Amino acid sequence: MAWGKADATDPGELFSMSHLAIRMSQEINGVSKLHGEVSRKMFNNLFPGYIPEELHIGHVTNSVHYPTWIAPEWHDLYEETFGKKFLRDQYNHTHWRLIHKVADERIMAIRRVLKQKLIRYAKQKIQDDLTRRGENPRAIFEVLNNITEDALIIGFARRFATYKRAQLLFSNIERLAEIVNDAKRPVLFMYAGKAHPADSGGKELIRQIVHISKRPEFAGKVLFLEDYNMEIAKLMVQGVDIWLNTPTRPMEASGTSGMKAVLNGVLNFSVLDGWWAEGYRPDAGWALPLEDTYTEAHLQNELDAETLYNILENEIVPTYYDTDEKGISTRWVKFIKNNIAEIAPEFTMQRMLDDYYSRFYHKLAQRFRQLKQANNSRAIEISAWKSQFQKQWPQIELAGIDAFDTDNHALPMGKPFYAKLQLRVDGLNPQEIGVEIVFFKRINDDELEIRMVQELAFAGEARHVATYTCEVDPLMTGVYEYGFRVFPKKEWLAHRQDFLLVQWL
Ligand SMILES: *Cc1c(COP(=O)(O)O)cnc(C)c1O
Repeated sequence: MAWGKADATDPGELFSMSHLAIRMSQEINGVSKLHGEVSRKMFNNLFPGYIPEELHIGHVTNSVHYPTWIAPEWHDLYEETFGKKFLRDQYNHTHWRLIHKVADERIMAIRRVLKQKLIRYAKQKIQDDLTRRGENPRAIFEVLNNITEDALIIGFARRFATYKRAQLLFSNIERLAEIVNDAKRPVLFMYAGKAHPADSGGKELIRQIVHISKRPEFAGKVLFLEDYNMEIAKLMVQGVDIWLNTPTRPMEASGTSGMKAVLNGVLNFSVLDGWWAEGYRPDAGWALPLEDTYTEAHLQNELDAETLYNILENEIVPTYYDTDEKGISTRWVKFIKNNIAEIAPEFTMQRMLDDYYSRFYHKLAQRFRQLKQANNSRAIEISAWKSQFQKQWPQIELAGIDAFDTDNHALPMGKPFYAKLQLRVDGLNPQEIGVEIVFFKRINDDELEIRMVQELAFAGEARHVATYTCEVDPLMTGVYEYGFRVFPKKEWLAHRQDFLLVQWL
C-alpha cells in the first residue's frame, strides 16, 4: 500500500496506480512530448531532491494502426502511388511525399466517396434512432431533408469526458447558427460519443448537444449519432472534412482519433495539446494556441470559443469553398496533401515502435540480460549494495565547505569558481558517493530553475573524511544561488533516480 502513495504516512491519501507503477518501473514515459513534461511535474513529489526537468521520465508519442483505420480507397491509392511495399516502411516520409504527384481531382473524388458513405450511414442511423425514440415523423423528415450532402462536415467524436469540452462549440448559439446556415457555404457538425456511466458531467454534455440538435435552426446541421463505437469512429474519421478537438489544456495526454483522420486526408482543427502540439503545421491544419490566457476556466472557454468561430469563419470555411470551375479548392487539396505527406508518417505504428525500441525496450532487454547473468548474481549484488548503502547513508556528515561566498560578493570577472567540500564517510567507499554543485535561479518558494550542474572530483580521504573539489568556469552572467547535492554513485545503477537517496547540503 505504501508504494501506491506519495506519502506512506498519510492515512488520508488514496492509493494511486500511477504511483505504484512508477515505483515498480525502471523506465517511465508519457504518451506525447507534452505529456512527458506534464508527467514530470505531476510526479515530482515521488522524487524528492530533484526538480521536474531532471526526472527520468521520457515520452513516446502514441500512434495509430494503419491497417485498422485506413479507408480502402486511400489504401489503394497509396499502394499505387507509393509502391506496394510502403507499409513495411511506413515511417519513411519519402513515400508519403509522393502524394503531391496525385491529381487534385483524384484526391477530391476519394474524399467525396467517403463523405457520401458517412452521410448515407448517418441518415439511416438518425432515422432509426429518432423513430425508436418516438420523435414525430415531421421532425424526423425536417432533420433528414436539411442535411446538405456537400456541406463542409466537421466531426467530433470521442469519450464525453468533461475535460474534452464537447460543449465549447455551443458557447454562442446565434453565431453558430449563422455559420451552419450560410446558404452558399453550409457547414454540418456531426457529433458522437459516450460518457462513462458514472460520469454525470459527461452525460449532461451529451444531453445538451442532443437538445441543441433539436432546435429548428440546427435541424440537419448539428447531428448526434448514438452508440459510438469503432465502426462509427471509422466512418467518421474517414468521412468528415475537419476533425475537431477542444480539450482543456494540458489534459489531453495524447489523443489518437485525430491521427486516424490524418491518414485519411482529413484535416485537424484542435487545441495545441497532446499529439497535436507535435503534429500541427500551419500548412496542413488549424490550431487553438497552446498557452492558457486565463486562469479562470469560464473566461478561457469563452476565449477559446471566440477563437474557434473566428478560425472557422475566416480561414477554414473560405479555404474549403474557394473552388474553381471544376468544384475543387486547390488550397484545400494542398492542405490535404501536406497533411498526408508530412503529418501522417509521424503517427504510424512503425515510428512509435521504433521509439519504444530505441528509447526503452533495447535498454531494458540489455539490463535484463546483465541482471540475470550467472544465476542473477548481478541483481543480488545490487540489492545487497543498496541495502547496505541505505543503512549507512544517514551517517554521512558534512565536515567542511570552502566555496566562494556569492551571498556577499560578486564573483570577479574571468575568475573560476572554486569549491571544496569535505564529508565524514564512516565505513562508506567515498568513491561511491557523488557530490555535485547545482547553480540555480529561484523562481519562487517551490520552484527552481537549474542553470548548471557540475560534479566535484574525489580528491582523497584522510581519517574517514573525504574531500571533493571542483573549479567551475563562470560561463554565465547574472545572480545565481547554488547548493551542493550528495547522491549514491555506482556504475551499474540504471540511472540516478533508480536509487532515491539524495541530500542537499
Ligand atoms: C480513436 C478512438 C477513441 C480515442 O479518441 P480521442 O479523440 O483520441 O480521445 C475513442 N473511441 C473510439 C471508438 C476510437 O476509435
